[in-house]
Amino acid sequence: MTVTNHSWQSLPAAQQPEWPDQEALRKTLADLASYPPLVFAGECDQLRARLGAVARGEAFLLQGGDCAEAFDGVSAEHIRNKLKTLLQMAAVLTYAASVPVVKVGRIAGQYSKPRSKNTETRDGVTLPVYRGDSVNGFEFTPESRIPDPERLKRMYNASAATLNLVRAFTTGGYADLRQVHAWNQDFVRNSPAGQRYEQLAREIDQALAFMNACGVAPEEFKTVEFYSSHEALILDYETALTRTDSRTGDLYDVSGHMVWIGERTRQLDHAHIEFASRIRNPIGVKLGPTTTVDEALTLIDRLDPDREPGRLTFITRMGAGKIRDHLPGLVEKVTASGAQVVWICDPMHGNTFEASSGHKTRSFDDVLDEVKGFFEVHNALGTHPGGIHVELTGDDVTECVGGGDEVMVDDLHQRYETACDPRLNRSQSLDLAFLVAEMYRS
Ligand code: PEP
Ligand code: MN
Repeated sequence: MTVTNHSWQSLPAAQQPEWPDQEALRKTLADLASYPPLVFAGECDQLRARLGAVARGEAFLLQGGDCAEAFDGVSAEHIRNKLKTLLQMAAVLTYAASVPVVKVGRIAGQYSKPRSKNTETRDGVTLPVYRGDSVNGFEFTPESRIPDPERLKRMYNASAATLNLVRAFTTGGYADLRQVHAWNQDFVRNSPAGQRYEQLAREIDQALAFMNACGVAPEEFKTVEFYSSHEALILDYETALTRTDSRTGDLYDVSGHMVWIGERTRQLDHAHIEFASRIRNPIGVKLGPTTTVDEALTLIDRLDPDREPGRLTFITRMGAGKIRDHLPGLVEKVTASGAQVVWICDPMHGNTFEASSGHKTRSFDDVLDEVKGFFEVHNALGTHPGGIHVELTGDDVTECVGGGDEVMVDDLHQRYETACDPRLNRSQSLDLAFLVAEMYRS
Protein backbone atom coordinates (compact mmCIF):
# COMPACT_ATOMS: atom_id res chain seq x y z
CA MET A 1 0.00 0.00 0.00
CA THR A 2 1.41 3.39 -0.96
CA VAL A 3 1.43 5.96 1.78
CA THR A 4 0.19 9.35 0.61
CA ASN A 5 1.28 12.46 2.40
CA HIS A 6 -1.72 14.70 2.61
CA SER A 7 -1.47 18.45 3.09
CA TRP A 8 -3.16 18.36 6.51
CA GLN A 9 -0.78 15.79 7.96
CA SER A 10 2.02 18.29 8.52
CA LEU A 11 -0.17 20.79 10.38
CA PRO A 12 -0.84 20.94 14.12
CA ALA A 13 -4.00 19.12 15.19
CA ALA A 14 -5.75 19.72 18.51
CA GLN A 15 -7.38 16.99 20.60
CA GLN A 16 -5.39 14.05 19.20
CA PRO A 17 -4.63 11.04 21.43
CA GLU A 18 -1.07 10.27 22.46
CA TRP A 19 -0.82 6.71 21.18
CA PRO A 20 1.81 4.94 23.26
CA ASP A 21 2.78 2.39 20.60
CA GLN A 22 3.53 4.03 17.24
CA GLU A 23 4.29 0.74 15.50
CA ALA A 24 0.91 -0.68 16.50
CA LEU A 25 -0.72 2.53 15.28
CA ARG A 26 1.05 2.33 11.93
CA LYS A 27 -0.11 -1.28 11.39
CA THR A 28 -3.68 -0.46 12.36
CA LEU A 29 -3.83 2.50 9.99
CA ALA A 30 -2.40 0.41 7.13
CA ASP A 31 -5.13 -2.19 7.75
CA LEU A 32 -7.84 0.47 7.91
CA ALA A 33 -6.62 1.99 4.66
CA SER A 34 -7.16 -1.41 2.99
CA TYR A 35 -10.73 -1.86 4.26
CA PRO A 36 -13.72 -1.14 2.03
CA PRO A 37 -15.49 2.22 2.24
CA LEU A 38 -18.40 2.56 4.68
CA VAL A 39 -20.23 4.98 2.40
CA PHE A 40 -19.98 5.77 -1.30
CA ALA A 41 -18.88 9.04 -2.82
CA GLY A 42 -22.12 9.18 -4.84
CA GLU A 43 -24.17 9.03 -1.62
CA CYS A 44 -22.16 11.95 -0.21
CA ASP A 45 -22.91 13.88 -3.41
CA GLN A 46 -26.59 13.11 -3.03
CA LEU A 47 -26.59 14.39 0.54
CA ARG A 48 -24.79 17.53 -0.62
CA ALA A 49 -27.55 18.06 -3.17
CA ARG A 50 -30.23 17.55 -0.50
CA LEU A 51 -28.46 20.05 1.75
CA GLY A 52 -28.35 22.42 -1.21
CA ALA A 53 -32.14 22.48 -0.99
CA VAL A 54 -31.86 23.32 2.72
CA ALA A 55 -29.45 26.17 1.92
CA ARG A 56 -31.97 27.56 -0.59
CA GLY A 57 -34.74 27.42 2.00
CA GLU A 58 -36.58 24.52 0.35
CA ALA A 59 -35.91 21.80 2.93
CA PHE A 60 -35.14 21.28 6.61
CA LEU A 61 -32.27 19.32 8.19
CA LEU A 62 -32.74 17.08 11.19
CA GLN A 63 -29.41 15.87 12.55
CA GLY A 64 -29.31 13.90 15.77
CA GLY A 65 -28.05 11.03 17.83
CA ASP A 66 -25.76 10.25 20.74
CA CYS A 67 -23.15 12.65 22.02
CA ALA A 68 -20.82 9.66 22.02
CA GLU A 69 -21.73 6.29 20.57
CA ALA A 70 -20.35 3.37 22.58
CA PHE A 71 -19.23 -0.05 21.37
CA ASP A 72 -21.60 -1.75 23.79
CA GLY A 73 -24.47 0.32 22.35
CA VAL A 74 -24.22 -1.46 19.00
CA SER A 75 -27.34 -3.56 19.49
CA ALA A 76 -30.45 -3.89 17.36
CA GLU A 77 -32.58 -2.45 20.15
CA HIS A 78 -30.53 0.74 20.69
CA ILE A 79 -30.10 1.44 17.01
CA ARG A 80 -33.77 0.80 16.26
CA ASN A 81 -34.96 3.05 19.08
CA LYS A 82 -32.72 5.89 17.97
CA LEU A 83 -33.74 5.58 14.35
CA LYS A 84 -37.40 5.31 15.25
CA THR A 85 -37.20 8.50 17.33
CA LEU A 86 -35.46 10.43 14.54
CA LEU A 87 -37.98 9.24 11.94
CA GLN A 88 -40.90 10.16 14.20
CA MET A 89 -39.46 13.64 14.66
CA ALA A 90 -38.90 13.96 10.93
CA ALA A 91 -42.50 12.96 10.11
CA VAL A 92 -43.90 15.67 12.36
CA LEU A 93 -41.51 18.28 10.97
CA THR A 94 -42.21 17.32 7.36
CA TYR A 95 -45.91 17.86 7.86
CA ALA A 96 -45.54 21.11 9.78
CA ALA A 97 -42.96 22.70 7.50
CA SER A 98 -44.42 21.20 4.32
CA VAL A 99 -40.92 20.71 2.96
CA PRO A 100 -38.68 17.65 2.75
CA VAL A 101 -36.74 16.87 5.92
CA VAL A 102 -33.19 15.69 5.32
CA LYS A 103 -32.43 13.03 7.93
CA VAL A 104 -28.87 12.70 9.20
CA GLY A 105 -27.86 10.65 12.24
CA ARG A 106 -25.02 11.34 14.63
CA ILE A 107 -24.52 7.66 14.10
CA ALA A 108 -22.20 4.96 12.73
CA GLY A 109 -18.97 6.80 13.53
CA GLN A 110 -19.59 9.18 16.45
CA TYR A 111 -17.02 7.50 18.72
CA SER A 112 -14.48 10.26 19.41
CA LYS A 113 -14.79 13.16 21.83
CA PRO A 114 -12.92 16.45 22.20
CA ARG A 115 -12.42 17.21 25.89
CA SER A 116 -11.85 20.43 27.80
CA LYS A 117 -9.24 18.82 30.09
CA ASN A 118 -6.59 16.15 29.43
CA THR A 119 -7.07 14.48 32.80
CA GLU A 120 -9.87 13.56 35.16
CA THR A 121 -9.60 13.36 38.95
CA ARG A 122 -11.83 11.24 41.17
CA ASP A 123 -11.31 10.79 44.90
CA GLY A 124 -7.76 12.10 44.64
CA VAL A 125 -6.84 9.81 41.71
CA THR A 126 -5.91 11.51 38.42
CA LEU A 127 -6.06 9.62 35.11
CA PRO A 128 -6.10 10.55 31.42
CA VAL A 129 -9.55 11.71 30.36
CA TYR A 130 -11.90 9.45 28.38
CA ARG A 131 -11.73 10.47 24.69
CA GLY A 132 -14.39 8.20 23.27
CA ASP A 133 -14.51 4.45 22.61
CA SER A 134 -12.33 4.95 19.52
CA VAL A 135 -9.42 5.92 21.77
CA ASN A 136 -9.68 4.57 25.32
CA GLY A 137 -12.09 3.03 27.82
CA PHE A 138 -14.78 4.81 29.85
CA GLU A 139 -13.91 2.76 32.93
CA PHE A 140 -11.91 4.79 35.45
CA THR A 141 -8.78 2.60 35.69
CA PRO A 142 -5.22 3.31 34.51
CA GLU A 143 -5.30 0.36 32.05
CA SER A 144 -8.59 1.35 30.47
CA ARG A 145 -7.53 4.98 29.94
CA ILE A 146 -4.43 4.10 27.87
CA PRO A 147 -5.10 4.95 24.18
CA ASP A 148 -5.20 1.72 22.16
CA PRO A 149 -5.07 1.93 18.34
CA GLU A 150 -6.86 -1.43 18.09
CA ARG A 151 -9.94 0.59 19.08
CA LEU A 152 -9.84 2.37 15.72
CA LYS A 153 -10.59 -0.95 14.06
CA ARG A 154 -13.39 -1.57 16.50
CA MET A 155 -14.78 1.85 15.55
CA TYR A 156 -14.70 0.87 11.90
CA ASN A 157 -16.44 -2.45 12.64
CA ALA A 158 -19.02 -0.89 14.95
CA SER A 159 -19.75 1.78 12.32
CA ALA A 160 -20.13 -0.88 9.62
CA ALA A 161 -22.49 -2.99 11.73
CA THR A 162 -24.57 0.05 12.67
CA LEU A 163 -24.80 1.33 9.13
CA ASN A 164 -25.77 -2.10 7.88
CA LEU A 165 -28.73 -2.22 10.26
CA VAL A 166 -29.69 1.39 9.50
CA ARG A 167 -29.73 0.60 5.78
CA ALA A 168 -31.84 -2.50 6.41
CA PHE A 169 -34.32 -0.62 8.59
CA THR A 170 -34.68 2.32 6.24
CA THR A 171 -35.07 0.39 3.01
CA GLY A 172 -36.71 -2.83 4.20
CA GLY A 173 -40.20 -1.45 4.89
CA TYR A 174 -39.77 -1.09 8.65
CA ALA A 175 -39.72 2.68 8.39
CA ASP A 176 -42.86 3.07 6.24
CA LEU A 177 -44.29 6.54 6.82
CA ARG A 178 -47.64 5.07 7.89
CA GLN A 179 -45.85 3.00 10.51
CA VAL A 180 -43.91 6.03 11.72
CA HIS A 181 -47.15 7.96 12.02
CA ALA A 182 -48.69 5.10 14.02
CA TRP A 183 -45.78 5.36 16.48
CA ASN A 184 -46.45 9.09 16.79
CA GLN A 185 -50.10 8.37 17.47
CA ASP A 186 -48.99 6.06 20.30
CA PHE A 187 -46.90 8.85 21.77
CA VAL A 188 -49.79 11.31 21.55
CA ARG A 189 -52.35 8.87 22.94
CA ASN A 190 -50.36 7.16 25.64
CA SER A 191 -48.12 9.73 27.23
CA PRO A 192 -49.00 12.88 29.16
CA ALA A 193 -46.28 14.69 27.18
CA GLY A 194 -47.91 13.73 23.92
CA GLN A 195 -51.50 14.68 24.62
CA ARG A 196 -50.89 18.35 23.88
CA TYR A 197 -50.22 17.47 20.26
CA GLU A 198 -53.45 15.66 19.50
CA GLN A 199 -54.55 18.30 17.01
CA LEU A 200 -51.36 18.10 14.93
CA ALA A 201 -51.36 14.30 14.98
CA ARG A 202 -55.01 14.27 13.88
CA GLU A 203 -54.22 16.56 10.95
CA ILE A 204 -51.40 14.26 9.81
CA ASP A 205 -53.77 11.32 10.14
CA GLN A 206 -56.32 13.07 7.96
CA ALA A 207 -53.71 13.95 5.34
CA LEU A 208 -52.64 10.30 5.14
CA ALA A 209 -56.25 9.08 5.06
CA PHE A 210 -57.00 11.52 2.23
CA MET A 211 -54.06 10.28 0.16
CA ASN A 212 -55.07 6.71 0.87
CA ALA A 213 -58.64 7.41 -0.27
CA CYS A 214 -57.29 8.91 -3.50
CA GLY A 215 -55.33 5.73 -4.08
CA VAL A 216 -52.01 7.51 -3.60
CA ALA A 217 -49.37 5.18 -2.18
CA PRO A 218 -46.03 6.49 -3.37
CA GLU A 219 -42.87 4.44 -3.15
CA GLU A 220 -41.48 7.29 -1.04
CA PHE A 221 -43.72 6.17 1.82
CA LYS A 222 -41.97 2.84 2.04
CA THR A 223 -38.33 3.78 2.27
CA VAL A 224 -36.39 6.66 3.78
CA GLU A 225 -33.17 8.32 2.77
CA PHE A 226 -31.06 8.40 5.88
CA TYR A 227 -27.45 9.58 6.15
CA SER A 228 -24.65 9.09 8.66
CA SER A 229 -22.46 11.78 10.22
CA HIS A 230 -19.91 12.24 12.96
CA GLU A 231 -17.30 14.69 14.17
CA ALA A 232 -14.12 14.16 12.15
CA LEU A 233 -11.86 14.33 15.18
CA ILE A 234 -9.22 11.59 15.10
CA LEU A 235 -7.40 12.54 11.93
CA ASP A 236 -5.40 9.29 11.74
CA TYR A 237 -8.67 7.39 11.38
CA GLU A 238 -10.34 9.84 8.99
CA THR A 239 -7.19 9.95 6.84
CA ALA A 240 -7.07 6.14 6.58
CA LEU A 241 -10.68 6.24 5.39
CA THR A 242 -10.10 9.04 2.90
CA ARG A 243 -10.08 7.71 -0.65
CA THR A 244 -9.85 9.01 -4.18
CA ASP A 245 -13.14 8.71 -6.06
CA SER A 246 -12.51 6.77 -9.26
CA ARG A 247 -15.19 8.80 -11.09
CA THR A 248 -13.69 12.22 -10.50
CA GLY A 249 -10.31 11.91 -8.82
CA ASP A 250 -11.66 13.87 -5.83
CA LEU A 251 -11.02 12.87 -2.21
CA TYR A 252 -13.90 11.67 -0.03
CA ASP A 253 -13.88 10.67 3.60
CA VAL A 254 -15.74 7.38 3.27
CA SER A 255 -16.20 6.90 7.05
CA GLY A 256 -19.54 8.78 6.93
CA HIS A 257 -21.70 10.79 4.57
CA MET A 258 -21.26 14.12 6.34
CA VAL A 259 -18.54 15.04 8.81
CA TRP A 260 -18.25 18.10 10.99
CA ILE A 261 -15.43 19.97 12.67
CA GLY A 262 -16.05 20.77 16.32
CA GLU A 263 -15.79 24.04 18.20
CA ARG A 264 -12.44 22.98 19.69
CA THR A 265 -10.71 21.95 16.45
CA ARG A 266 -11.76 24.62 13.97
CA GLN A 267 -8.54 26.68 14.18
CA LEU A 268 -8.07 28.17 10.71
CA ASP A 269 -4.38 27.24 10.40
CA HIS A 270 -4.69 23.75 11.87
CA ALA A 271 -5.09 20.31 10.36
CA HIS A 272 -8.85 19.75 10.80
CA ILE A 273 -9.92 22.66 8.62
CA GLU A 274 -7.27 21.83 6.02
CA PHE A 275 -8.55 18.22 5.99
CA ALA A 276 -12.16 19.36 5.60
CA SER A 277 -11.17 21.71 2.78
CA ARG A 278 -9.73 18.80 0.78
CA ILE A 279 -12.60 16.33 0.89
CA ARG A 280 -15.79 16.57 -1.15
CA ASN A 281 -18.20 15.38 1.57
CA PRO A 282 -20.71 17.88 2.88
CA ILE A 283 -19.00 19.58 5.83
CA GLY A 284 -20.34 21.00 9.07
CA VAL A 285 -18.56 23.42 11.40
CA LYS A 286 -19.67 24.17 14.94
CA LEU A 287 -19.80 27.86 15.79
CA GLY A 288 -19.82 28.85 19.46
CA PRO A 289 -20.69 32.23 20.98
CA THR A 290 -17.19 33.71 20.54
CA THR A 291 -17.14 33.17 16.76
CA THR A 292 -16.25 36.38 14.92
CA VAL A 293 -17.61 37.47 11.55
CA ASP A 294 -14.06 37.28 10.15
CA GLU A 295 -13.72 33.67 11.29
CA ALA A 296 -17.02 32.71 9.71
CA LEU A 297 -16.12 34.42 6.42
CA THR A 298 -12.67 32.82 6.35
CA LEU A 299 -14.20 29.41 7.03
CA ILE A 300 -16.43 29.94 4.01
CA ASP A 301 -13.44 30.91 1.84
CA ARG A 302 -11.55 27.84 2.97
CA LEU A 303 -14.32 25.27 2.92
CA ASP A 304 -16.72 26.55 0.29
CA PRO A 305 -14.65 28.60 -2.17
CA ASP A 306 -17.11 27.86 -4.99
CA ARG A 307 -20.12 28.97 -2.90
CA GLU A 308 -21.88 25.71 -3.54
CA PRO A 309 -25.20 25.44 -1.64
CA GLY A 310 -25.11 22.28 0.50
CA ARG A 311 -21.35 22.07 0.79
CA LEU A 312 -21.10 23.91 4.12
CA THR A 313 -23.36 23.79 7.16
CA PHE A 314 -22.83 26.14 10.08
CA ILE A 315 -24.01 24.47 13.27
CA THR A 316 -24.44 27.29 15.78
CA ARG A 317 -24.26 26.42 19.49
CA MET A 318 -24.44 29.73 21.28
CA GLY A 319 -26.48 29.04 24.40
CA ALA A 320 -30.06 30.14 25.02
CA GLY A 321 -28.93 33.36 26.71
CA LYS A 322 -26.61 34.40 23.88
CA ILE A 323 -28.12 33.35 20.58
CA ARG A 324 -30.33 36.42 20.15
CA ASP A 325 -27.29 38.70 20.58
CA HIS A 326 -24.60 36.74 18.77
CA LEU A 327 -26.32 35.08 15.83
CA PRO A 328 -27.78 38.10 13.94
CA GLY A 329 -24.39 39.68 13.13
CA LEU A 330 -23.00 36.41 11.79
CA VAL A 331 -26.02 35.58 9.67
CA GLU A 332 -26.26 39.09 8.32
CA LYS A 333 -22.60 39.34 7.25
CA VAL A 334 -22.44 35.81 5.85
CA THR A 335 -25.59 36.44 3.81
CA ALA A 336 -24.20 39.78 2.59
CA SER A 337 -21.03 37.96 1.42
CA GLY A 338 -23.14 36.01 -1.06
CA ALA A 339 -22.44 32.61 0.50
CA GLN A 340 -25.36 30.21 0.75
CA VAL A 341 -24.59 28.09 3.79
CA VAL A 342 -27.00 25.89 5.70
CA TRP A 343 -27.70 27.30 9.18
CA ILE A 344 -28.72 24.82 11.82
CA CYS A 345 -29.13 25.14 15.55
CA ASP A 346 -27.39 22.89 18.06
CA PRO A 347 -29.33 23.87 21.21
CA MET A 348 -27.40 21.42 23.38
CA HIS A 349 -23.75 22.43 23.73
CA GLY A 350 -24.26 26.00 24.89
CA ASN A 351 -26.67 24.93 27.61
CA THR A 352 -24.83 22.36 29.73
CA PHE A 353 -24.59 22.80 33.51
CA GLU A 354 -23.89 20.76 36.61
CA ALA A 355 -26.99 19.89 38.60
CA SER A 356 -26.99 19.95 42.40
CA SER A 357 -26.86 16.14 42.20
CA GLY A 358 -23.45 16.45 40.49
CA HIS A 359 -24.75 15.27 37.08
CA LYS A 360 -23.85 17.14 33.93
CA THR A 361 -27.25 18.04 32.54
CA ARG A 362 -29.27 20.36 30.30
CA SER A 363 -32.70 21.82 30.80
CA PHE A 364 -35.34 21.11 28.18
CA ASP A 365 -36.56 24.71 28.55
CA ASP A 366 -33.11 26.11 27.66
CA VAL A 367 -32.88 23.77 24.66
CA LEU A 368 -36.28 24.93 23.47
CA ASP A 369 -35.47 28.57 24.14
CA GLU A 370 -32.30 28.41 22.04
CA VAL A 371 -34.27 26.90 19.13
CA LYS A 372 -36.88 29.65 19.55
CA GLY A 373 -34.15 32.29 19.49
CA PHE A 374 -32.72 30.68 16.35
CA PHE A 375 -36.10 30.91 14.60
CA GLU A 376 -36.62 34.50 15.79
CA VAL A 377 -33.24 35.63 14.45
CA HIS A 378 -33.74 34.01 11.05
CA ASN A 379 -37.31 35.19 10.74
CA ALA A 380 -36.24 38.75 11.54
CA LEU A 381 -33.48 38.66 8.92
CA GLY A 382 -35.54 36.86 6.29
CA THR A 383 -33.06 33.96 6.21
CA HIS A 384 -33.86 30.26 6.47
CA PRO A 385 -33.73 28.49 9.85
CA GLY A 386 -32.38 25.36 8.19
CA GLY A 387 -32.69 22.79 10.92
CA ILE A 388 -31.68 21.40 14.27
CA HIS A 389 -28.76 19.32 15.54
CA VAL A 390 -29.58 17.48 18.74
CA GLU A 391 -28.10 14.94 21.11
CA LEU A 392 -30.74 12.31 21.73
CA THR A 393 -31.38 8.66 22.31
CA GLY A 394 -34.44 6.54 21.68
CA ASP A 395 -34.25 5.12 25.20
CA ASP A 396 -36.01 6.38 28.31
CA VAL A 397 -32.91 7.77 29.99
CA THR A 398 -32.89 10.55 32.59
CA GLU A 399 -30.07 12.87 31.55
CA CYS A 400 -31.73 16.21 30.71
CA VAL A 401 -34.21 17.85 33.09
CA GLY A 402 -37.72 19.03 32.14
CA GLY A 403 -39.86 18.11 29.15
CA GLY A 404 -43.51 17.07 29.03
CA ASP A 405 -42.93 13.96 31.17
CA GLU A 406 -40.91 16.15 33.49
CA VAL A 407 -37.53 14.75 34.56
CA MET A 408 -36.47 16.34 37.87
CA VAL A 409 -32.93 16.81 39.20
CA ASP A 410 -33.68 14.09 41.75
CA ASP A 411 -34.53 11.68 38.90
CA LEU A 412 -31.22 12.10 37.07
CA HIS A 413 -29.51 9.20 38.84
CA GLN A 414 -32.22 6.72 37.72
CA ARG A 415 -31.03 6.16 34.16
CA TYR A 416 -28.02 8.35 33.56
CA GLU A 417 -26.25 6.31 30.88
CA THR A 418 -24.42 8.70 28.57
CA ALA A 419 -20.69 8.26 28.08
CA CYS A 420 -20.33 12.00 27.58
CA ASP A 421 -22.98 14.74 27.32
CA PRO A 422 -26.62 14.45 28.50
CA ARG A 423 -29.08 13.48 25.75
CA LEU A 424 -32.78 14.13 25.28
CA ASN A 425 -34.68 10.92 25.91
CA ARG A 426 -37.32 9.57 23.57
CA SER A 427 -40.20 11.57 24.99
CA GLN A 428 -38.19 14.81 25.24
CA SER A 429 -37.07 14.38 21.61
CA LEU A 430 -40.62 13.95 20.33
CA ASP A 431 -41.76 16.81 22.53
CA LEU A 432 -39.10 19.02 20.92
CA ALA A 433 -40.14 17.95 17.41
CA PHE A 434 -43.79 18.85 18.06
CA LEU A 435 -42.79 22.20 19.57
CA VAL A 436 -40.49 23.03 16.65
CA ALA A 437 -43.34 22.01 14.33
CA GLU A 438 -45.53 24.56 16.11
CA MET A 439 -42.85 27.23 15.62
CA TYR A 440 -42.84 26.45 11.94
CA ARG A 441 -46.56 26.91 11.67
CA SER A 442 -46.75 30.15 13.59
C1 PEP B 1 -20.42 17.55 20.24
O1 PEP B 1 -21.10 17.79 19.23
O2 PEP B 1 -20.56 16.53 20.94
C2 PEP B 1 -19.41 18.56 20.66
C3 PEP B 1 -18.37 18.27 21.39
O3 PEP B 1 -19.75 19.80 20.22
P1 PEP B 1 -18.92 21.15 20.17
O4 PEP B 1 -17.75 20.92 19.25
O5 PEP B 1 -19.92 22.11 19.61
O6 PEP B 1 -18.52 21.49 21.57
MN1 MN C 1 -21.76 16.45 22.99
